[in-house]
Amino acid sequence: AISGLERRSEHEWVIPQTGPMRVPAVIYASESLVNAMDAKVFEQACNVASLPGIVGASYAMPDAHWGYGFPIGGVAAFDPTAGGVISAGGVGFDISCGVRTLRTGMTRAQLEAGRERLANELFRTIPAGVGSTTSYRLTGREMDDMLAGGARWAVENGFGRPEDLLRVEEHGCMEGAEPSVVSQRAKERQRDEMGTLGSGNHYLEVQRVVNCYDPEAAAAFGLAEDDIVVSIHCGSRGLGHQIGTEFLREMVIAAPGLGIELPDRELACAPIESPLGQRYLGAMRAGINCALANRQILTQMTREVFARVFPEAQLELVYDVSHNTCKAEPHYVDGRSRGLFVHRKGATRAYGPGHPELPEEYRKAGQPVIIGGSMGTASYILAGTQESEQRAFSSACHGAGRAMSRHAATRQWQGRQVVDELAARGIIVKSRSLRGVAEEAPGAYKEVAGVVEATDRAGLARKVARLEPMIGIKG
Ligand code: 5GP
Ligand code: MN
Ligand code: MN
Repeated sequence: AISGLERRSEHEWVIPQTGPMRVPAVIYASESLVNAMDAKVFEQACNVASLPGIVGASYAMPDAHWGYGFPIGGVAAFDPTAGGVISAGGVGFDISCGVRTLRTGMTRAQLEAGRERLANELFRTIPAGVGSTTSYRLTGREMDDMLAGGARWAVENGFGRPEDLLRVEEHGCMEGAEPSVVSQRAKERQRDEMGTLGSGNHYLEVQRVVNCYDPEAAAAFGLAEDDIVVSIHCGSRGLGHQIGTEFLREMVIAAPGLGIELPDRELACAPIESPLGQRYLGAMRAGINCALANRQILTQMTREVFARVFPEAQLELVYDVSHNTCKAEPHYVDGRSRGLFVHRKGATRAYGPGHPELPEEYRKAGQPVIIGGSMGTASYILAGTQESEQRAFSSACHGAGRAMSRHAATRQWQGRQVVDELAARGIIVKSRSLRGVAEEAPGAYKEVAGVVEATDRAGLARKVARLEPMIGIKG
């Protein structure tokens, strides 16, 4: 057992507040997940618990692993009126990285006839890998419009349909974005990266629904067993990374002057109400819009590929979730609604049934929560629960979570061998980087079924459907 860790219930572990901690740290996981967790996660969760203005507790989700400052799979909410802070490391470098899932209206049998061709067309069309670019080069004016408008801008410019926006968080456009505070360098890096997947962990995957645990919620999400869906995982590319890098540096330098004592310089942050905090908020929200626009453009490209190979397919958005964000949200704390800034780093928002932010057709089921597994295992769709609000400000896990570093993975697997083994299991994986495939070998991730089970049992979100991979386009 880990010292200082107390078991509060079957899937909830607490590190009580001591020393500089202002609140306890809470870890949601099964016993075996807690035992296998990197000790660094506990240390990082405690460091986060010592930041000014934190409310409730510092939380770690079942997929948590060691990250930059904050754990990946970390959730922390701050009260701006109580000196609460915003942290660039608490959002992560890939601002608004996230997943969207599209249903296709096709079944497995229909896909089979053209699967090889679809894989080839997707691989040829979807820009993926380190330094991938597109021909949608934005002018300075278009860049600012995109950063202010997000997926709404993309739809207005011919990428996708207006009804898509109803199934994106914030209806596809994060309010309060300030393109003017995003550096030229960040915009320059993004100029020809719109509509690109990026590298490594990012993917476009054709999946089939193999199990509906909650048929009613699955039906509300338009999913049934044997259905073919497409999931797209990517973020804000060079722009988000540049914003994160620049503000992190600025926050480290500014912290002493702002009266903030950092337990770890990677936790660099600024009071939400300070000019620096406000500037980061404006830039980070522009980063969110960049990621939303990016996934919207990739959706349009995916529809065009399907139209060529399977003209009968109808690609409709199930939902789009972001898992690297800080968002202003009202939450109930001790029976009182408070306006908090919730950091979710490698964590998914999971609003329960009835939440006003949800599209009408999902109000009864709760928010779709999209969880990646790996290119060789399952992915899951969950739904937000009412009780999640009391657990971790309506948050859930975002994936299986890494079980080992990329470097360790490349020593254990070879990319070619991974691709061949998956092919033998009927999974087509295409990537421009065999090294990337080795880094992303299914065995480098935790067992996703266990992570999802713990998420469900802890009351963070409930299981709705399991998806298995059929074609993977990897960055
Ligand atoms: P992250 O955003 O932290 O990089 O990744 C989110 C999650 O995506 C990971 O924790 C992992 O479980 C999952 N993932 C990574 N690669 C793949 C893939 O190729 N396919 C699927 N379905 N999931 C993946
Ligand atoms: Mn990412
Ligand atoms: Mn991600």
